[in-house]
Amino acid sequence: MRKLIAGNWKMNGTAADLGELRTLAQQHPDPSVDIVICGPATLLSRMAETGLMIGGEDCHPAASGAHTGDISAPMLADAGASHVITGHSERRSDHGEDDALIAAKTQAAWAADLHVILCIGESEAQYRAGKTLDVLRRQLDHSVPDGATAATTTIAYEPIWAIGTGLTPTPQEIADVHSALRAHLTARFGEDGAQMRLLYGGSVKASNAADIFALDHVDGALVGGASLKAADFSPIITALE
Ligand code: PGA
Repeated sequence: MRKLIAGNWKMNGTAADLGELRTLAQQHPDPSVDIVICGPATLLSRMAETGLMIGGEDCHPAASGAHTGDISAPMLADAGASHVITGHSERRSDHGEDDALIAAKTQAAWAADLHVILCIGESEAQYRAGKTLDVLRRQLDHSVPDGATAATTTIAYEPIWAIGTGLTPTPQEIADVHSALRAHLTARFGEDGAQMRLLYGGSVKASNAADIFALDHVDGALVGGASLKAADFSPIITALE
């Protein structure tokens, strides 16, 4: 699998910000890694016009119906998305999403031919209590549906305490977690688990990207704040290439 770098714009971005993506597309015309920008539903079709790969930030588990304000996976695909994030910790905490719902959303995304970037991560209290691997294995077991393949699914490890804080685990901690995730995925999914991309996310920036990308079983990154401006995101992409 090619490495993957995904931006997550979260609840940011209006038409005035599309120039950042046009700049990014010009700076990386023939990338050797997959570059995906996950953005707000309101902007997706215009983001897709830049030629970059585009993703949604969430989807509903149903394909259509009476769900005011929600967006389905087929609607994301129709707007030009090829990817979607499921299970982001902000969805888990802001909207009470549990592993079963995230698994249902993931299956809905697969049914719409979207590649899923499925997020897992421990809280600060769980990290301090030494429960990180227990939490992550439980999230993998319950939020990644049977049938996941390397072609349809990417896993993003995002420690909640590292998101938007400027804090990151040490490189050794990231390496240890990623090798444990790899072992767990391989035990469950065989060769697909061995090939499934594992992203790190949480306060990735130009100054720490190269050290993180040098680690075994780190196949890219999910980048929040530093994905909003081409000047910040481009050097991170270059570090992965
Ligand atoms: P951050 O966010 O890079 O701003 O820490 C990462 C994420 O939430 O995906």
